[in-house]
Amino acid sequence: MKKLDSALIKTIKVNHQSFFRSHKDKGVSVRIKHLKELKKVLNEKEDEILKALYLDLKKPAFESFSSEVLMVFKELDLQIKKIKEWSAPKRVAGSILNFPSQDFILSEPYGTVLMISPWNYPFQLVMIPLIGSIAAGNTVVLKPSESAPHTAKILIEILEKVFPQDWVTTIEGDAVIAQLLLKEQWDYIFYTGSTDVGKIVAKAAAEYLTPTTLELGGKSPCIVDGTAPLKKTARRIVWGKFLNCGQTCIAPDYVLVKKEHKPMLIDALIIEIKRFYGDNAQDSKNYGRIIHKKHFKKLEADLKNQKIIYGGEKSLESLFFGPTLVDEPSMKSSLILEEIFGPILPILSYETENDIDVILTKLKNPLAFYVFSSHKKFINQMMTRYSFGGGVVNDSIVHFTNPNLPFGGVGNSGIGSYHGKYSFDLFSHKKAIVKRSFWFDLPQRYAPYPKSIKNLKSILKKL
Ligand code: NAD
Repeated sequence: MKKLDSALIKTIKVNHQSFFRSHKDKGVSVRIKHLKELKKVLNEKEDEILKALYLDLKKPAFESFSSEVLMVFKELDLQIKKIKEWSAPKRVAGSILNFPSQDFILSEPYGTVLMISPWNYPFQLVMIPLIGSIAAGNTVVLKPSESAPHTAKILIEILEKVFPQDWVTTIEGDAVIAQLLLKEQWDYIFYTGSTDVGKIVAKAAAEYLTPTTLELGGKSPCIVDGTAPLKKTARRIVWGKFLNCGQTCIAPDYVLVKKEHKPMLIDALIIEIKRFYGDNAQDSKNYGRIIHKKHFKKLEADLKNQKIIYGGEKSLESLFFGPTLVDEPSMKSSLILEEIFGPILPILSYETENDIDVILTKLKNPLAFYVFSSHKKFINQMMTRYSFGGGVVNDSIVHFTNPNLPFGGVGNSGIGSYHGKYSFDLFSHKKAIVKRSFWFDLPQRYAPYPKSIKNLKSILKKL
């Protein structure tokens, strides 16, 4: 761990750059060796990781394992298996205009990547991009969130054990430290967090034209037309919404249900909430807590003057905020205008597809998009008409778990996507190389050019 000021940050950066220039981390076999070592240490530290996540967010062990640790193992396995293939030069068809040539793409690491991470999935939102970045051959300077200090501590322990200091450096600190880091010139910036801070990061990156990925938030709708089984629909919405106490970037932010099905859906949601967490979620071992008092108070303020139809119990002292359903909040309220990022689920209703359109046009570019329906045409319309990061039909959140799918937002919810091959490509610059031979030259390409080009033009257009 480093105690930071701008001079020390400069030193860390310079050390990373000279480590990168030394090519010690570029060899694929060296990367594989270290990723395998990382897997070994993660296995050894698994219980400590689960404990840290419990201390930071009161995450139930199974939730931490399935939504944080397991995904990291899957990502590690995939990257270890595929680095050789993904990093090999890729032959592509040559252009007839350059005949004869060999054309290929070289994947080149950017250099030193600055990563700034959030607190809600403080383990996997650090490890998954880090693994991709290392697989692609970069060095990483990482700042985990100050709001999940126990997880930050175990991350430091693990990473220091596996990587030389100038390959991966973890820096603890808050927004002030993040601002100091952003003053420096990095080769790539990978940021996960709120849209507002994302704009600060983008402005800092613009100073040096640093390529940047922004993984941001947004309001992910859950559209229910009533043609899919309602009980299962409710179960899958409750699962996605109240996992990690609603503090999931891709949690269903609000439900938009066809008016005639609303009463039945609300009943089904309440039955499922009770089935998951009992009559009093405060006593449940399966229900997490709000990260800190500031966020608790924001959620509390969101509930003011709202029609609560279920839940609303809370305790600032223990940071318990029960699963809460709100009926038809005003379109001008913070519950509609801002990302909720907590266990409050507004239920809105629609009568026509135009009503859906009005809402989705207002709350555009969600990070995730969920449709529960058995109506093919409706599903297709919803999936294609609106712009969003990624989506699921008849479930919530699960697209995040497939490393073969790109994960990221669009517009307000982010720029760029990662996971699996998409991570490898994100953290690699693609060099376009054309290797020519000398045995043939089209003489007309050189001046003096032919006087009449009519025939030549038509030949070249046909090639
Ligand atoms: P945040 O933006 O407050 O903090 C994220 C990181 O940015 C932290 O490391 C923090 O120290 C740093 N930071 C905070 N203020 C800063 C500033 N002024 N300048 C520079 N750095 C600053 O976000 P959070 O509260 O940790 O996380 C919640 C948000 O993140 C939600 O909006 C959520 O949707 C989003 N999120 C998105 C994803 C995704 O994958 N797209 C994943 C998790 C969370």
